[in-house]
Amino acid sequence: MSTEPRPSSAPRTSNFLGPIVPPSEDMYKCVHCGFCLQVCPTYLETGLEAESPRGRIALMKAVEEGRTGITPAIVGHWDKCLQCRACEVVCPSGVPYGRLMEATRANVEQVFKRGLKQRRARNIGFNGVLPNPKRLNRIGGALRFYQKSGLQTIARKTGAVRLAPGGSLEKYLPKLGDKFFVTSGQIIRPEVEVRARVAMLGGCVMRLTHGPTLEAVTRVLARNGVEVYVPEAQGCCGALNVHSGEQDSARKMARRNIDAFLEVETDAIIVAAAGCGSTMKEYGELLADDPEYAEKAAEVGERSKDIHEFLSELGFETPKGSMATDGVDLKVTYQDSCHLGLAQGITAPPRELLYAIPGIEFVEMDESLVCCGSGGTYSLFEQEMSLRLARRKTDNIVASGAAVVATANPGCVIQMEQALARAGEGAQVRYIIDLLDESYRLGDDAG
Ligand code: SF4
Ligand code: SF4
Repeated sequence: MSTEPRPSSAPRTSNFLGPIVPPSEDMYKCVHCGFCLQVCPTYLETGLEAESPRGRIALMKAVEEGRTGITPAIVGHWDKCLQCRACEVVCPSGVPYGRLMEATRANVEQVFKRGLKQRRARNIGFNGVLPNPKRLNRIGGALRFYQKSGLQTIARKTGAVRLAPGGSLEKYLPKLGDKFFVTSGQIIRPEVEVRARVAMLGGCVMRLTHGPTLEAVTRVLARNGVEVYVPEAQGCCGALNVHSGEQDSARKMARRNIDAFLEVETDAIIVAAAGCGSTMKEYGELLADDPEYAEKAAEVGERSKDIHEFLSELGFETPKGSMATDGVDLKVTYQDSCHLGLAQGITAPPRELLYAIPGIEFVEMDESLVCCGSGGTYSLFEQEMSLRLARRKTDNIVASGAAVVATANPGCVIQMEQALARAGEGAQVRYIIDLLDESYRLGDDAG
């Protein structure tokens, strides 16, 4: 692996071909110091250079310099990256690793032929389902019926599930909520004086899996004097597509949301899922070359706010209801979702909210900033590494002694719930907003 800067006089021999190529100036910022190794989840698990940020960048340089083509082995090392961006945060040379890996993946999708099964799954997911909210709702409804009607139990017991297409992934199917969150242009008006007006993203997965949490977000905002508008024309933010190298479909999804969210003047666009928040804040970069949308995309990026960040900046009513049982405080720890703590650099506001809730004993767990292995679609396509990281996270949660692990992203909630259940551990996973909403309610009930 080369550690030398690419000579500026060298003829271009790059094997990155096609319209989207990773910017070579980004990869040559890496001076191979190795500061990033000890924060990289895949390096921590394997100890292998090729599964580290430095190793992955060295492979990009090798392709850029024409020393190798894009081989299945190289794609395998890039695919193992969770895009958690822990490396970007500690890098003293300022390597914009997230942007670099997104462009590398986009290039791979243009030139590299994946296996038929994966191509089909990617095409259905990234082009057929995620950009189409109505289709997503229909599939969500069918899967909820499958789970609630008893069909899932029968299919699992009889082994029929293994015969169905995609059956090996069925065990990763998250539990779908009784109530999906609806984005119908509704306005939730506060009963107190209006301090701010916001628009809110419903998203894709979170709307189906954690609809009541999105309702709790609107309640918490309204209680704090925030009028909430939920645009009907919105859709999935495109985060899963961006991280998987599906740039064209991601741009289409971003344009749709930009139109939906700029339709009215608001003080902020509120996002409750960390992964969606970081993508919307980067719409400006995604559409930088689009003459019609570049400026509007940057505006949406600037207006987008994570819910915890927004409440912390606005100031929130102190919750009064205690979470303690029989005088014993509820022990809570916190998992920093990568796309909140690392990609958005938001670590203090979620903790500020947790500290404000009475009857909670807050404890930090070890490695709260190490990815839980969810990584969007990572848990489906990179199952072995995802399970190893989930196990590592479970061990840290259990060692903290917490009864509840709080977090801020649907992927993390689903991943940690499944990991704790597999390990037979009883700790619960909760959204911070649900804890805050519950404390408000308990305070009201106590009068
Ligand atoms: S910390 Fe930055 S410069 Fe150092 S090896 Fe990692 S990516 Fe390269
Ligand atoms: S983004 Fe995360 S998994 Fe990928 S190389 Fe950086 S630290 Fe490792």
